[in-house]
Amino acid sequence: MAETAIFLGAGASKAEGAPLQGELFWEYFTSPAFRKSRAAMDREPAQFFDEMFSIDVKRRDLQKDAFPTFEEVLGLTDLAIMRKEAFRHFDIENRVKHSGRLRFIAQYLVFLVAKVLDAKLGNRATIHRKLARNLRDADRLRDTVFVSTNYDILIDNALTEEYRHVDLDYGVDFRNFDWDNDWERPRAGRNVQLFKPHGSLNWLFCPTCNELEITPKEKGVVTRLISEYADKKCGECETVFSPLIVPPPFSKDLNNVFLSSIWNRTDVALRKVKHIVFCGYSFPDADIHIKYLLKRAQTNRTGPLKVTVVNNHRGKDPDLAKLERQRYERFLGTAVDYTTLSFTEFATDPVALL
Ligand SMILES: [Zn+2]
Repeated sequence: MAETAIFLGAGASKAEGAPLQGELFWEYFTSPAFRKSRAAMDREPAQFFDEMFSIDVKRRDLQKDAFPTFEEVLGLTDLAIMRKEAFRHFDIENRVKHSGRLRFIAQYLVFLVAKVLDAKLGNRATIHRKLARNLRDADRLRDTVFVSTNYDILIDNALTEEYRHVDLDYGVDFRNFDWDNDWERPRAGRNVQLFKPHGSLNWLFCPTCNELEITPKEKGVVTRLISEYADKKCGECETVFSPLIVPPPFSKDLNNVFLSSIWNRTDVALRKVKHIVFCGYSFPDADIHIKYLLKRAQTNRTGPLKVTVVNNHRGKDPDLAKLERQRYERFLGTAVDYTTLSFTEFATDPVALL
């Protein structure tokens, strides 16, 4: 049973070069790939930004901070779809021909983010790999449960690549488990748990079959982002796959059966570990569902829970660090060990902290 949980927030991906939430769209719309694309997948989000935020993304002098965050935009589309309401020129399903534009936009946005992350990160994951390698060498990998609020696949690839004799256990079943030479169903005693309660950019969801597929492994080790599978259809019913990404404010509301299952597995795992190490997580106010899980983990147990925070980086504003520490302490108590370590330093010698 896992003794330790390593919780990965946005800062862990940023340490590898991932753009922050607010920079994602700027990265994309200033990229040569977008500039020369005529595809609906690119033109539609461009029009959405023009009409909804008055941003003409074709301009050459786009400002980084002019863009809303990915969570804000996906929050708008998802809330409207959930409430069965529309925005002007962006409707949900009705009797009009070509209706359902909003649902398309919501999915295009997810693919857009996958494309940005693919271009920025490729298969890098240097720090995540170092962490996985050092835990493996100390024989601590199977004592550890990973929880990531990130959609990227840095830790996924780091774990599969650095420890090939391990089955990654995402807390859900994939159709691939029934196929030869594909992902293995996690076997007891050789599985490492990785829970991603907001979804992941290497999962393809068929809403007709209500089954999940995971993108194939390449050379037997790494998985790919869904941006390469944008038009992929379900092999059994020909429905075009949907991404499975839910922005934090809706994590519990959308009731997707797979995400519910992941939430439950995360809940149980966090209650059983003795130590949670937060890496690159700033404990934002908006993440109330994550806070709910953490409070449950802290109070619904017999022994004490140790909490360590690793979220320093060179040039970090001391005032921001102070506020962040206060957020942790007021919610989890003053016993929180708020270290001055960076994610890279922790990855170099994780055992010292564990
Ligand atoms: Zn299907």
